[in-house]
Parts: sequence; structure tokens; C-alpha cells
Amino acid sequence: MRVFTLNVGPLQACCHLLAPDGAPDAAVIDPGGDAELIAEQLRYRKLAPRYIILTHGHIDHTEAVAALKRAYPEALVCVHEADAPMLRDKGAALASWIGIPFEPCEPDRLLADGDTLELGAETIEVMHTPGHTPGGIALLVRHAGEPAAIFSGDTLFAGGIGRTDFPGGRYQQLIESIRTRLFALPEATRVYPGHGEPTTVGEERRTNPFLLSA
Ligand SMILES: [Zn+2]
Repeated sequence: MRVFTLNVGPLQACCHLLAPDGAPDAAVIDPGGDAELIAEQLRYRKLAPRYIILTHGHIDHTEAVAALKRAYPEALVCVHEADAPMLRDKGAALASWIGIPFEPCEPDRLLADGDTLELGAETIEVMHTPGHTPGGIALLVRHAGEPAAIFSGDTLFAGGIGRTDFPGGRYQQLIESIRTRLFALPEATRVYPGHGEPTTVGEERRTNPFLLSA
């Protein structure tokens, strides 16, 4: 499994390109801006996106979806059902608040907890982790059946957690999502957040200050 991370948009959100070894198939996770930069990387690495997956509906994770969908019409836009309305609603997407241009788009597939997406030899499993937004998800990649990596969106960061002061945010729910879902994964599971550096489940369980006292 290969992961290429690009920092995109004014908030430098992490757009992750996930590609199984030895296959051109790829998933674009959170194309939050700079569509041309993302397309350039896909071409350079000879990757064909089969999915555009959104960990949640905030504009800094979705701004380039419409442009990428035009460039790759065969890629399925996937979002949790509870955040899908944010793809059509400038206010809910926080576009005006953050000051990012908004282009509405339609999801191709609505996700729910436990859904799986096949990508080459890998399986991407949807974990519903609400709290930052109602339809926030983490994407667990299993390799040969074992958890290998998790894309945590704005739920869990290296040494931090997502904000819960936006509409639909709930602090206790976020903490529960992290404790009962993400921290239930093996220690060595690599964590790729929506902002900042990658980490591991074990590292965050031991040192994340927001979870030590919660
Ligand atoms: Zn967010």
C-alpha cells in the first residue's frame, strides 16, 4: 500500500492518495483544494482514481471534488449520508466562514458505518466517527485482513482532536468516537489525519493530551 499526502488549499489540509501496490487504482481522500496539483500528482504517479472519499463535508476537505469529478468522471464520490447535504450547502460546508469558493457537487455513493470499498488488494472500511461533524468518518485500510492504516479526517490529529464548536459538532461524541473506535485498533496502526503529520494509534493512546483526562 502506498500513501502520498499533499497539503492543499489555504488551510493546507491533507489530501491523501491511497494506492495499492502494483495497481493503478487509487482513492483520493479529502481533495480540499488545488485540483490541478492533485490531478498532476495522479498523472505523474500513473494512478487512476476509482474513488473520491470525503472524511467529512467541510470545504477545506471538499473544495476540489467538483473539478476532480470533471477530470475523472468514473471516480465515485463517496461521503457519509449525514454529511452529504454539506456538498450542496455553502453555509453548512463553512465555505463563507473559511473564505473558500464553493462549487456544489453530488455524491455517487452514500456511506454508512461498516461499508467497505474494494481497491485492488486492499479493503477500505468505513467507520462512523461523529463529533467533529455528524457524518464524520474514518477510513480503515485492511491489508490481508489486518488493520494497516486509518485516515482519521478531523477526528484525531497527532497530539490533538477536531474542533467541536462548528454546527453539528459534539465534544463528548468526538471523544467517544476516538476511544471506542480508533483506540480499539492495534497500536501499530498508522494514522493519517486531515491536518498535520501522521502518527500511530499507540502513540496517540499514550500521549494525546485531549484523551488522557477525558
Ligand atoms: Zn473539518
